[in-house]
Amino acid sequence: MNYYSLNDTKNNAKTSFEEAVVRGIAPDRGLYFPNEIKLLESDFIDNIENYSNEEIAFKVIEQFVNNEIPTDVLKEIIQDTLCFDFPTVKVEENVYSLELFHGPTMAFKDVGARFMARCLGYFNRDKKEETVTVLVATSGDTGGAVASGFLGVKGVEVVILYPSGKVSDIQEKQLTTLGKNITALEVDGVFDDCQDMVKTAFLDAELTEENLTSANSINVARWLPQMFYFFFAYKQLKAEGKELVFSVPSGNFGNICAGMMAYKLGLPVKHFVASTNINDTVPQYMATQEYNPKPSKQTISNAMDVGNPSNFIRIQTLFDNNFEALNQLFSSFSYTDEDTRKTMKEIYGESKYVADPHGAVGYMGLKKFQKAAPETLGVFLETAHPVKFLDVVEETLDVKVPIPEQIKAVLGKEKKAHAIKNYDDLKAYLKNR
Ligand SMILES: *Cc1c(COP(=O)(O)O)cnc(C)c1O
Repeated sequence: MNYYSLNDTKNNAKTSFEEAVVRGIAPDRGLYFPNEIKLLESDFIDNIENYSNEEIAFKVIEQFVNNEIPTDVLKEIIQDTLCFDFPTVKVEENVYSLELFHGPTMAFKDVGARFMARCLGYFNRDKKEETVTVLVATSGDTGGAVASGFLGVKGVEVVILYPSGKVSDIQEKQLTTLGKNITALEVDGVFDDCQDMVKTAFLDAELTEENLTSANSINVARWLPQMFYFFFAYKQLKAEGKELVFSVPSGNFGNICAGMMAYKLGLPVKHFVASTNINDTVPQYMATQEYNPKPSKQTISNAMDVGNPSNFIRIQTLFDNNFEALNQLFSSFSYTDEDTRKTMKEIYGESKYVADPHGAVGYMGLKKFQKAAPETLGVFLETAHPVKFLDVVEETLDVKVPIPEQIKAVLGKEKKAHAIKNYDDLKAYLKNR
């Protein structure tokens, strides 16, 4: 197996896993994609309950790592990555929440960030002088997960750009207090400004010596480990003997695309629902077959405020750009903040379950699909702990959310960030470190 750029053809699949991880994005600006996807043995899937999470993860990721990391090292990386639980919690009849927020920064991005960091660490093991710089823009959760996942990884410097005053207090603490190889740049602007600066830096020939790479879900080492969640959920729910439907709160569509890769590896799933907030480029596409990216709009489920989801092209590729085939397995629905708050209240009122705004969006998409398929077992992904959206959750539900230990640990620490105003400031920072 090799990777090719989605701006090129499959016949030109010459990129190794290592190169795809280190580069992040192909030189022609395309996303990397595997040229072959092998089905897992049905015996493994039929007996999944007899395997540990680590064993499952190894089987799932092995073909994509392509023997470029020795088995014992890959097993260690997986062990280190999966140092927490992924429980399915029953919310009501035929509806489960798959809680992906029990990691160090309490959002699902921990798994991808930890896995990618450790792969990069391995690939840099013999490089004495040279460092790779991970440059990442965040609207909130990515920054914390990347900071925590990459902390102390040898040969890797991390530079995080975040929009001043636009991330929550907890999110800001998570990305500005760690020190060591993690630097935060506080940008006088909005998320799109941060993202633009990062993109400009990747294209800037004067920065090639800085060995820049990305750590968002375009990087295969952050995207692919997200397949694990869907196998872990199947392992827990298989005994119920019902067909599974997953609803994934979606922004850049990396997580749901990983779920659909899991399906291509042989995981039995009846349907996937991509639930979005009013940033509805994909729901509109599924309704009209016209893809019209738009500038992102701000919502209370802000980790999904994406107007041009990077990974949707990967989903289309999985279905050979055949709309009918995609439409069979995949639906996408969009919801307003008002819908979201109302649903958070309903879930809490009926089940005493505290959903964060992203999880609530996932729940709505699931319920909509299940209306026509009531015999299915539905799973919505709870992508962040409610504490990460404390103000919205406490105000909407009139409850006090207890602060978990992971969060308490950063709240007392001192923020350290360099203020920057524009691309020249970023460039000067990168060159003069
Ligand atoms: C990043 C994020 C999402 C969106 O995930 P994508 O893979 O970008 O679709 C959803 N919920 C939360 C809490 C997130 O942090």
